[in-house]
Amino acid sequence: MTMEEVENGRDDMLIDGIEPKQNQNIEIPEEFNANYLRAYYAKLFPYTDMFKWMSYGNDGRHPGCDQSYVGRREISFTLENDIYTRFLSFNSITELEKAIKEKCPFKIDIGAVYSVDPAKKDAYSQNAFTPVERELVFDIDISDYDDVRFCCSGANVCSQCWPLMTVAIKVIDTALRDDFGFNHILWVYSGRRGVHCWVCDGKARRLNNEQRAAITEYLHVYKGNENSNKKVSLMGPLHPFLARSYTEVLKDFFEEKFIYSQELFSNEERYEKILEMIPEESVTSELRGKWLDNKRSRDDVNMARWGHLKQLLQSGKHKAQGIRRCVEEIVLSFTYPRLDKEVSKHMNHLLKAPFCVHPKTGHVCIPIDPNHCEEFDPSAVPTLSKLLEELNRGGLRSEGEDELENTSLGKSIRYFRSSFLQPLLKSCKEEIESSYAAKTQQSKNTLSW
Ligand SMILES: [Zn+2]
Repeated sequence: MTMEEVENGRDDMLIDGIEPKQNQNIEIPEEFNANYLRAYYAKLFPYTDMFKWMSYGNDGRHPGCDQSYVGRREISFTLENDIYTRFLSFNSITELEKAIKEKCPFKIDIGAVYSVDPAKKDAYSQNAFTPVERELVFDIDISDYDDVRFCCSGANVCSQCWPLMTVAIKVIDTALRDDFGFNHILWVYSGRRGVHCWVCDGKARRLNNEQRAAITEYLHVYKGNENSNKKVSLMGPLHPFLARSYTEVLKDFFEEKFIYSQELFSNEERYEKILEMIPEESVTSELRGKWLDNKRSRDDVNMARWGHLKQLLQSGKHKAQGIRRCVEEIVLSFTYPRLDKEVSKHMNHLLKAPFCVHPKTGHVCIPIDPNHCEEFDPSAVPTLSKLLEELNRGGLRSEGEDELENTSLGKSIRYFRSSFLQPLLKSCKEEIESSYAAKTQQSKNTLSW
């Protein structure tokens, strides 16, 4: 069967000529390839949901809708062979769907909404073509934690280090909701080594670059001490946001999980990294002496040594706040979220769209529920080949929407719709109606003069 048939064929769709036999598991090799991706775009990519999201209620059903809105959004495709096309725009689901199916992009990025159609930007002067709206976005990448994880490095990630992403989601999500009052927040697995966050409230989308930078700096309040051997940097009382992140999330994570999973005190090289953060020589030499002695204890060495350190730093001997603060400093420097700040500060920065497939892993970039983010397991994320197997197996039983629902992507789509898209569109509709009512009232008032 050719790929054309895959795209056009409805009923018994087969992928790469693999014949489904009754009651037999069809194995598709794990690798990502363009044919699989084409089948994914033909059968599974949630065009309607994505388009509804990007329209923000401007669907033409209300007189207050902005018909040009969605067509002013920049979309970018990265094609096979790394060909990069920016400033594409689509006025309808049909246009979007057609382009994706035709071009089969290895990556789809979403950019800002501009003052005019980005595809026609060259027809306008530079000043007339300017970003006017953009979700507030965050990008957190596990490779930025290489100095605090010993299980993996670079783009690799495992169940021992992934929880760093989980606590990052908890800390940032709480701040966005409680401190900034945002409600429409989407967390997405980036497909390989991190997470993306999309804040979609109207007031977030309309932030200018200065405001974005201010929020980013607020969330970046703890600047870490990676590679700088900086001793205690936390002076005075802890910033309330840091204090809360520390007490509610990071302290327990560090003490109950992270020191064990990374064996932070298991050898000299590792514990020296921690001792370097303590500015008081008498403390570090006392701890060194204790640990070099290396008496066998019944306790786990990591737990025992962290206990010694805390006991010594927080004992009555060290009244100076700076020294006591070392314990918090150590926890924060290992666990505090590390944002890629540049992504968040500028409206015109691109970010990979949810439900793309990562070409290196074949993983679909599915949403993560922040309320259950500890249950998220990157190794269990549906891959392209798994989904195609499911399609082949179930292809004869269901049609259209059901087909998607019956794959392991179904759960993610249902979450996207019910927890993110529906409440978002409801509030967009209310916003459109109220601003329309205000405008109508205003013009009535003008007429009555
Ligand atoms: Zn790891």
